[in-house]
Amino acid sequence: MQGIHAVSSAGEGLTGTRDRSDRYSRQERFAMIGVEGQRKLAEGAVLIVGAGALGTGIAETLVRAGVGRIVIADRDYVEWSNLQRQQLFAEEDAELRLPKAIAARKRLQAINSEVIIEAHVMDVTYAEIHSLLPGIQLILDATDNFDTRMLINDVSQQQGIPWIYGACVGSYGITYTVLPGHTACLNCLLGSIPLGGDTCDTAGIIPPAVQTVVAHQTTEALKLLTGQRESLRGTLLTFDLWRNEQASLKMNAAKRADCPSCGSQPVYPYLSFSGSRKTEVLCGRDTVQIRPAHPREWNLEETAAALKKLHEGIAEYNKFLLSFTVGEHRLVLFKDGRALVHGTKDIVEAKVLYDRYFG
Ligand SMILES: [Zn+2]
Repeated sequence: MQGIHAVSSAGEGLTGTRDRSDRYSRQERFAMIGVEGQRKLAEGAVLIVGAGALGTGIAETLVRAGVGRIVIADRDYVEWSNLQRQQLFAEEDAELRLPKAIAARKRLQAINSEVIIEAHVMDVTYAEIHSLLPGIQLILDATDNFDTRMLINDVSQQQGIPWIYGACVGSYGITYTVLPGHTACLNCLLGSIPLGGDTCDTAGIIPPAVQTVVAHQTTEALKLLTGQRESLRGTLLTFDLWRNEQASLKMNAAKRADCPSCGSQPVYPYLSFSGSRKTEVLCGRDTVQIRPAHPREWNLEETAAALKKLHEGIAEYNKFLLSFTVGEHRLVLFKDGRALVHGTKDIVEAKVLYDRYFG
């Protein structure tokens, strides 16, 4: 022990070469993956839409598993209320109000420097989603809203890319794997899915509900990425950890020939402008999101300087966003001109504030 202490005296750990070759050995010993499966994972490329509770859990699992390329997109930034369950974030990220995609990439790259991680600070709509898809084999839903899920569902059908639906609130969770051309899609299931009106912001959430959905989504992802479709669950799974309930429902009969997303004459309704919204009230958050009609790159430093001259509120900024607190409102402006107006659910009031300070 004496020798070890001498070597490590400069820091907490030992230094020197490490054998990294057994990094994935426990996964390769798992017969269903093996060395061949591990090679396929290294060639895998997935898109994770959302870097909140589900997105950070999914990303960490797949990055540790050695999936070669992870693209992660999120429109929000880290707040203190996220730290209870969004596992890639630390206090410093909330203190600095780092965009979730950026904070996630920082931690993911520290966990595994061998995989490619692409982070996008972006509200994913019909206008952006195709730019994220080149090379992508699988899309993982980690969003908090149904509009984006229906968008993912449509683009999955249009491009023939599988996707895995996941959602949770309270102690409840739900997940379903969509294979274009094989399974019913999410649009087919509308009406048969127990959605409820609750969100994490209104009904709360416990981390195990998140982790259980993540476990199911990432297991299905590992099966798909290693080419084992025959092992997929094939059901819509719902559970409530607190009420000790679980259901696994076959959805084969739900596939509709006239479905506008996966039927014989698909029109992909959510991939057009009319199916999307520019300005929306964020579910349960007392926040309105405003997207400019013509996105452009903002100089946040100059905008902050101009706001300071008004002497009306407090303007702070980092590399990615500007925060302006005025009265009971806080406006957060991202570099592409998108803004979150906190402290109101009134779209007109939010637009007035946006135009007044950023217009
Ligand atoms: Zn369908």
